[in-house]
Amino acid sequence: MTDLLTASSLDAFYGDFQALFGVNFRISEGESVALIGANGAGKSTFLKVLTGLLPVPGQSLTFDGTDLTQHPAHEIAKLGIAMSPEGRRLFPSLSVRENLLLGATVAREGPWNLQAVEDLFPILTEKANTPSTLLSGGQQQMVAIGRALMANPKILLLDEVSLGLAPVIIRDIYSALPRIRENGTSVILVEQDIGQAVAVSDRLYCLQEGRISLEGPSATLDRADISAAYFGRK
Ligand code: ATP
Repeated sequence: MTDLLTASSLDAFYGDFQALFGVNFRISEGESVALIGANGAGKSTFLKVLTGLLPVPGQSLTFDGTDLTQHPAHEIAKLGIAMSPEGRRLFPSLSVRENLLLGATVAREGPWNLQAVEDLFPILTEKANTPSTLLSGGQQQMVAIGRALMANPKILLLDEVSLGLAPVIIRDIYSALPRIRENGTSVILVEQDIGQAVAVSDRLYCLQEGRISLEGPSATLDRADISAAYFGRK
């Protein structure tokens, strides 16, 4: 399958501080790729690069035939990369449905609309008029993912979906992933939970201190190798 997004030898900086070193990454259409790593490994930095929040002029980063480094964040959203951010970042005073509709502001043509998102997470229909602050953590996470889907992205970025949620809720949320991918949407998911990342991804990248320390098909990677790549020891 052809690659939808490719990063080659990508470096990223905050001022003088280098956070990513020579990162090679690719994802194809409909693929689910996990990005794991310890605190400070550079996972969020990579997502910031993909969404244009951290510009990387002169670097090699191609999305759907376009040089992504030439586009500011608002254009990247329109090109088809949408993020469900860590901490969900919903508008607290707005209802669930209003939060979802905000995601459609830069929407491309595609299968996702209010009906499709509410079919994916039926609880959001029930809570449509509830202020988002009154939702449980898991329900808020569903709104955040639904809002990102409303833009009809080619790539959906999920940042720390499972953070602070009970295992049964996490399972509920990740069980939506196959339906998202059936629609042709690729998913890059950042996870601290190694087991979860392996379970829901086709391929996995591990970052350690800004460098890719391991890469491969999730189903065949050895757990001891993943731990070593994650924690930096054998
Ligand atoms: P976490 O799981 O804690 O979110 P992470 O893997 O997402 O960690 P990043 O947030 O990408 O890691 O951080 C990578 C490195 O970049 C860290 O050393 C961090 O201190 C540094 N860093 C992150 N954001 C900034 C910033 N705005 N300015 C300067 N340095 C930063």
